[in-house]
Amino acid sequence: MQAAYFRELENGRFRCDLCCRHCVIAPGEVGFCGVRAVTDDGFITLAFDRIAAAGVDPIEKKPLFHANPGARIFSFAITGCNLACPWCQNHQMSQWPHNHRTPFLPGEKLTPADLVAQAVTSGCRWIAATYTEPTVFFEYALEVARRARAAGLKNAWVTNGTIEAAPLAELLPLLDAANVDLKCYGDRAAEKILGIRSAHVGETIRAMIAAGVSTEVTTCLVPGFNDAPDHLGKIVNFMASLGPAGIWHVSRYHPMYQWDAPPTELASLASAVAAGRAAGIPFIYVGNARIDGGENTACPGCDALLVSRSGYTIGACRVTPAGACPDCGARIPGVWG
Ligand code: SF4
Repeated sequence: MQAAYFRELENGRFRCDLCCRHCVIAPGEVGFCGVRAVTDDGFITLAFDRIAAAGVDPIEKKPLFHANPGARIFSFAITGCNLACPWCQNHQMSQWPHNHRTPFLPGEKLTPADLVAQAVTSGCRWIAATYTEPTVFFEYALEVARRARAAGLKNAWVTNGTIEAAPLAELLPLLDAANVDLKCYGDRAAEKILGIRSAHVGETIRAMIAAGVSTEVTTCLVPGFNDAPDHLGKIVNFMASLGPAGIWHVSRYHPMYQWDAPPTELASLASAVAAGRAAGIPFIYVGNARIDGGENTACPGCDALLVSRSGYTIGACRVTPAGACPDCGARIPGVWG
């Protein structure tokens, strides 16, 4: 299928403008992600209709804590990612095209219409492009989002935030919620490992919030990558700069793929949470580790408990459908109705 967002260059080459990498791709080659290619048919995406995973998850697994707590969400993915994080928890799926570089992606052939029909049949009110990076299967995910919206479902993306501004602008009117990975911020060494400019991810987060998308941010605290106090301080400052919209998940890393540092110390997670609280981030959650009360939603105005969580066990949601604390009236960002 013809890919969107590119520029034709000389000598049969194309520049991809879908994500911040802007790969220049020669005939017969694929981009960094391994799913966008220059062939005799022009600039094409290999990631249309090959579903690598589809199923129902608790919405808290995304993690989305401010989107109808306790809801179930139909989740899907196509293989591929435009990053190659050495600690990727889903590397078999996300790195498959990058590592194999073949024109044929694995997965079940399923049209966007068929996928949305499955989501509707599942009884879910939400659908998420997740597990890998939706940006690299943008054309498919956009078509799913259009059809899902028409079918009465709410749309979510779990993304690394490296999508370019133009495709993001096309997506935003269809998006209800997102979780964006803020892996690093303002740290050159970390940016070099990922091959991105972290400010770009920050701009994506701000654009989502400005468009009214319920936007949560996750930082996996990876020893030796982003846990140095000065780097963590920059991440915290960025999150604090989001003001009342700041929803930050700090999650625990476990050794995986090519990164063998030991799991994040619980004390490091507690320090990150304390730094975030001191900076005024209104909503902070701990992921992949049980810290007492670390998954609960409390009102930033009066400290009332609004949603209690323990893993995927969710207590009653006290946030009003309009998104307010029932005790003090403070606004609670999210999708509650
Ligand atoms: S989407 Fe893929 S091909 Fe396009 S710029 Fe990003 S990594 Fe390169």
